[in-house]
Amino acid sequence: STSTPWQITTEKEIRSWIRPPHLFAHKGTMGHALLIAGSYGKTGAALMASRACLKSGVGLLTAHVPHSAVAVMQTALPEAMISADRSDIIFTEFPDLSPYNAIGVGPGLGTKTNTQRALKELLKSAQNKKLVIDADGLNILSENREWLNDLPPQTVLTPHPREFERLSGPYENDFQRLNTAIEFAQTYKVVLVLKGAYTAVISPEGKVGFNPTGNPGMATAGSGDVLTGIILALLANGIEPYAAARAGVYVHGLAGDMAALKGQRATIASDIIENLGPAFAKTTE
Ligand code: AMP
Ligand code: MG
Repeated sequence: STSTPWQITTEKEIRSWIRPPHLFAHKGTMGHALLIAGSYGKTGAALMASRACLKSGVGLLTAHVPHSAVAVMQTALPEAMISADRSDIIFTEFPDLSPYNAIGVGPGLGTKTNTQRALKELLKSAQNKKLVIDADGLNILSENREWLNDLPPQTVLTPHPREFERLSGPYENDFQRLNTAIEFAQTYKVVLVLKGAYTAVISPEGKVGFNPTGNPGMATAGSGDVLTGIILALLANGIEPYAAARAGVYVHGLAGDMAALKGQRATIASDIIENLGPAFAKTTE
């Protein structure tokens, strides 16, 4: 509607949402995140989201991956703890959720029947958890739209335009898409991150925050997985979901802008991750 309140995210707001680590901070105060990601041939998605999460100030990260990915994960990212699925190739089960402050699910998961079943169980068990769902997690929701009614309140969804079209049905232009997205966020009481240039983050009340950072160099494999890891870390820190999403999108874009100083064309997702330190330092320290 025309009276929809909207804003452009500023560094000042980020500073009010993300405090610099407390002098007496320890792993326990920074939160423990669980990331469920990856499938055979897509371990990179789990790795990039995990690395981004650890580089965004989470206290502890456990990555749940198919059994065959365990050695790769432990070698490439020794800071992450690993929970191994009994399946060698896909997500079919998840650990006891009680240790975790926040859960991320979706990057590189695939959409096999047993994975869909496991996601359904996860949504039931995570009712009192902070949750971010991306990528194939969203594609599974598109195939089972009735599950949208049972998401934990303020779940963060991070679709790119095609994923959002699968979730919500077709739209004719960007204006219609934004209005559809606002209705969607209000109907399902979710925080909706509509990714693209000038990503829109929509609150369950229908507030819209547009993001000013980022560049076309970020249209590259794994870029979205990095964002999922960042938002997961901020949720595990205890930041409110709408603020965590807006801050995460801003810092992700800023890290991408810093990476692009060495060339947009050559920017890959790992370069965005490498610039998270300077991006968080500029906005929060
Ligand atoms: P995904 O498609 O899931 O890998 O996500 C791509 C990420 O890169 C999202 O966070 C987008 O907002 C970002 N991105 C892609 N293209 C652009 C662009 N032209 N300008 C700014 N950000 C972009
Ligand atoms: Mg993606």
